[in-house]
Amino acid sequence: MLIGIPRESKPGETLVAATAKTVSQLTNLGYDVVVESGAGVHADQPDSAFVDAGVRVGTTEEVWAADVVVKVNAPTDEEIGRLRQGATIISMMAPGRSPELLERLQAQGVTALAMDAVPRISRAQSMDVLSSMANVAGYRAVVEAAHEFGRMFTGQVTAAGKIPPARVFVVGAGVAGLAAIGAASAMGAVVRAFDVRPEVAEQVESMGAQFVELDPTLFAEKSSDGYAKEMTEEQVAATAAMYDEEARAADIVITTALIPGRPAPSLLTAETVAGMRNGSVIVDMAAANGGNAAGTVADQKVVTDNGVTILGYTDLAGRLAAQTSQLYGTNIVNLLKLLTPEKDGNLGLDFEDVVQRGITVVKEGESTWPPPAVQVS
Ligand code: NAD
Repeated sequence: MLIGIPRESKPGETLVAATAKTVSQLTNLGYDVVVESGAGVHADQPDSAFVDAGVRVGTTEEVWAADVVVKVNAPTDEEIGRLRQGATIISMMAPGRSPELLERLQAQGVTALAMDAVPRISRAQSMDVLSSMANVAGYRAVVEAAHEFGRMFTGQVTAAGKIPPARVFVVGAGVAGLAAIGAASAMGAVVRAFDVRPEVAEQVESMGAQFVELDPTLFAEKSSDGYAKEMTEEQVAATAAMYDEEARAADIVITTALIPGRPAPSLLTAETVAGMRNGSVIVDMAAANGGNAAGTVADQKVVTDNGVTILGYTDLAGRLAAQTSQLYGTNIVNLLKLLTPEKDGNLGLDFEDVVQRGITVVKEGESTWPPPAVQVS
């Protein structure tokens, strides 16, 4: 089968779904690959790199006429119209929030696999693009914060005086939060972190941060599915004072708190932000879902009256395009290994497998979303 890798059409997109390294891995699985000219230009993957890797560089038409089209963002209506009946499209699709997209894909008679619907079970980790992106984004959040912050992260004793280390507070210690903790610790900051899931305290400490402890009876319930639930009124009251105190003491606050299927919880109030030091920085990684901090504007840098910089960038993973594209492309290769057990370049779907069932949102024009529930491990 022929795999097509299009140039992403989303304005400002830097990512590409394959690199020179991953197209070689796809050819090892028996596939032919055609990459749209210019597809990897923002991710350090010029056309020549793909040619050197032994695959073809072609036109938009050639790529969209392939048996399997692999991309990063969900296809537009126009792109769906280019898919031939019976083709397979693989990309992120936010299927739970995109009923019209799923209808268009059905009408086109294609099979659609949503990379952002990979079940969060241990076996599927190697295909989990959301984790790949959150990991890069958490690191980049620290880089952005360091860039805005007027001082060093690390403490030093110099001939010109003693420099204290920066104090970083990370809210939410999932994939992104842990990556941020690791990056900030590595740069020499003193890092503190909190998560409503107390089971992550050990991971926080292993990354070099201190876990902020609250009344253990309030957060005693262990998450059954690895994700946070909305806080109870009692929990909101107990955490409000802590968020206020930690934020006022911090130079940098990185917020990553999300609850699946819900708007991001509001955690740093306007009063708290107003009480933070001049020159301090908030990176609100929940900006795309409404933000964790008062004053966050998605995709903007805001400087408050009291001199706090709030970054609401939603393209943090795309700001490290070469790295993220490599990880995304590798997640794709791992998925195609699963779908091509004979390494014969023929993609097949086994609905007995929860991963293959979970990602298939449309099969040959028929809706297969939502899949049966899977208990995450
Ligand atoms: P996420 O992006 O949904 O949320 C980020 C973090 O915010 C979570 O840790 C959550 O507990 C926290 N949070 C929510 N409300 C909060 C609040 N009010 N205050 C403080 N923190 C709050 O989560 P994620 O990073 O995608 O992952 C969540 C869990 O799933 C992690 O334990 C991760 O290790 C696990 N996971 C497993 C797999 C797998 O097994 N394949 C893949 C990815 C993630």
